Amino acid sequence: MRQPWRVAVVGGGIAGLAAAVRLRDRAPAGTEITVYEQSGALGGKLRTGELAGQPVEFGAESFLMRDPAGAESAAVALARRLGLAEKIVHPTVGQAALVVNGGLRPIPGGTLVGVPGDLDRVTSVARPLAGADTDGGRPLVGPDADVSVGALVRSRFGDEVVERLVDPMLGGVYAGRADDLSLVTTMPALARTARVEHTLTGAVRAAQAAAPRAPGAPVFGTLVGGLSTLIEAAVTASGATVRRDAAVRELTPTDTGWRLTVGPTREPELVDVDAVVLAVPARPAARLLAGPAPVAAAGVGELDYASVALVTLAVPQPQLPELSGFLVPSTEGLLIKAATFFTTKWGHLRRPDGMALVRASVGRYGEEAHLQRPDADLAATVHRELSAVLGTPLPAPVDGHVQRWGGALPQYAPGHADRVAAARTALRAAHPTLVLAGAGYDGVGIPVCVRSGETAAEEIVTALGGSAR
Ligand SMILES: Cc1cc2nc3c(=O)[nH]c(=O)nc-3n(C[C@H](O)[C@H](O)[C@H](O)COP(=O)(O)OP(=O)(O)OC[C@H]3O[C@@H](n4cnc5c(N)ncnc54)[C@H](O)[C@@H]3O)c2cc1C
Repeated sequence: MRQPWRVAVVGGGIAGLAAAVRLRDRAPAGTEITVYEQSGALGGKLRTGELAGQPVEFGAESFLMRDPAGAESAAVALARRLGLAEKIVHPTVGQAALVVNGGLRPIPGGTLVGVPGDLDRVTSVARPLAGADTDGGRPLVGPDADVSVGALVRSRFGDEVVERLVDPMLGGVYAGRADDLSLVTTMPALARTARVEHTLTGAVRAAQAAAPRAPGAPVFGTLVGGLSTLIEAAVTASGATVRRDAAVRELTPTDTGWRLTVGPTREPELVDVDAVVLAVPARPAARLLAGPAPVAAAGVGELDYASVALVTLAVPQPQLPELSGFLVPSTEGLLIKAATFFTTKWGHLRRPDGMALVRASVGRYGEEAHLQRPDADLAATVHRELSAVLGTPLPAPVDGHVQRWGGALPQYAPGHADRVAAARTALRAAHPTLVLAGAGYDGVGIPVCVRSGETAAEEIVTALGGSAR
């Protein structure tokens, strides 16, 4: 092996940057790490912008503090590694609401992404099907099976629990429908217990018991100064060379590793490296893998994506309820899918002048036509719908921002995890120095993507001959 190692990280989102940091920590000293990012900015779906003179998230907003087993999440561990643990803050208002028949009702506690472990606790928003969650003498889900979350919950609790609770809560994360989304990938803790338990309430309770939460322990965190500080700190800690506006268009195996074709077709740059972390979404990954690893390309290329737009309004002194925000079931007929009252939810964002920052997410999978509307139209619709839901006219905004995220949220169909595992097995057998990382494979969310990037980095270190540390 040539010394020092040269490793390319393709994709400058959180998965790629977490991989770069882990490579710096585990690969031999002097390893040359280069991050190639096709856009002009690092961070991918993490993007801190500014509105009304204040930092505000135009993409991901916060991260889970714990992993499904109850341990510190990989996002928290990364923040600690990067010296940012002191900057972690938690919501000051955690209670969110659901829109039911046009009005706001508190989201009932004790559910797992809307799936109740106690049916009596959700009756204020949905009437569960009586007597359907019976013990049939065998586990809910077979040992290797995957089902859609919607199919499982409908069969046990009825349609209303799906439509009023699970759909809006899963939709808040994936912009998709419970009926289309894989249990194994979107709710891994519940998938594990559903393979043992005979009732769904039992499976929810078992999943909750497997990751007990200390009373009052915060569920979410974010960083003072914004999530882009995580990205900047990761770049610094990784010591990587960063190439922005540098799309990788081709990956070709060589005798010693990989040749990258970078940049515009007319002036391609060819770069030789020993190994590649491919931390781009599934579709560009499938294009890059089509030549060297067609089986893996076919496996990952099946994933579909939803598009959303985030409309953030700066509203002077509105009357807002003491809620972090609300979720909207698709049956309510609103464009808004979810709203966050940033300046209520996050104490560090509160302003002495009473200006509120309110963000609404619009766009559901399969309803992309709405996103064709101009920014001003989306902002006006959001403003009107917010007023309607709050039951009082919202003052006119003094500033606003529309962030469009085209094809941004993976729609993991049942069987996704098996398809990715098969693709990775094929890739590892043919090309152990090319490893996939990120939301296209392991699930959405900052902690999952951090862990995915770190795991990819470890695999590369192993493939290149083990750690020198
Ligand atoms: C609107 C929205 C809100 C979200 N909110 C939250 C939240 O609050 N909390 C949370 O935990 N998660 C949230 N998520 C999910 C989370 O942000 C993502 O799962 C995660 O950031 C994905 O990281 P990634 O590195 O896998 O991919 P990405 O962030 O997509 O990064 C991939 C990068 O690869 C680049 N790229 C693509 N092709 C190439 C190429 N050929 N060459 C070079 N570069 C290329 C892209 O430009 C991009 O920068 C949200 C997602 C969205 C869309």
